[in-house]
Amino acid sequence: MRAIFLGPPGAGKGTQAQRISEAYQLMHISTGDLLRGTIKDNSELGRKARVYMERGELVPDELVTALVRERLRAARRHRGFILDGYPRNQAQALALDEILAEEEIPLDLVVHFETPVEVVRDRLMGRRVCSSCGTNFHLKALPPSPNGRCSRCGGELMIRPDDQDQTVEQRIRVYEDFARPLVKFYRKKDLLHKVSGAQTAGDQYAELKRLFERKAK
Ligand code: ADP
Ligand code: ZN
Repeated sequence: MRAIFLGPPGAGKGTQAQRISEAYQLMHISTGDLLRGTIKDNSELGRKARVYMERGELVPDELVTALVRERLRAARRHRGFILDGYPRNQAQALALDEILAEEEIPLDLVVHFETPVEVVRDRLMGRRVCSSCGTNFHLKALPPSPNGRCSRCGGELMIRPDDQDQTVEQRIRVYEDFARPLVKFYRKKDLLHKVSGAQTAGDQYAELKRLFERKAK
């Protein structure tokens, strides 16, 4: 299965992409995680990316696309992949089409996580992220373990630097301006499936599993 998860920040893409890719042994390609990895490594790319990410802006296309291309080459050896956070604008969608054509790995599915903006705000304000394994939690909706640590690996939780009020508003704007038009782009290709981003993580997971089962046939 080769899928894109598309939706605003806080829609549940990352959480579900992690779970579904584990369940179906797919490669989870999160450009946000890849970029945060380059920052952690203090690489040249990381130093460039950081400035954009902290402002809630898009990292330049060529930097992100290079990361994705490299990963998709490796994905050939997997049963498929979930792209989470890419493409995020028209230029990236076209670049992706090219890469997939070169690698001869057509897309099966684009899941659109449709999510009201109030839900997005609430999710990002309450979000906590494990500093060691990257798993997402939410203070109310997806609480970590009672000792306040990651319930997966025991790691320390942190607030993502871009989950601050002003940056959240900027990320919402960037989504509306650049990524939302992609819904139409993939609808025309007849790949689009809508999932409500406002439901609980458990309900979202159940719905996605049904969708993946149906598609796998
Ligand atoms: P969210 O979807 O919750 O905003 P991500 O972890 O996917 O979080 O992305 C965090 C930040 O990383 C974005 O605000 C942006 O700066 C950068 N980023 C991630 N993916 C891309 C992309 N495809 N193109 C450009 N920038 C990206
Ligand atoms: Zn963890």
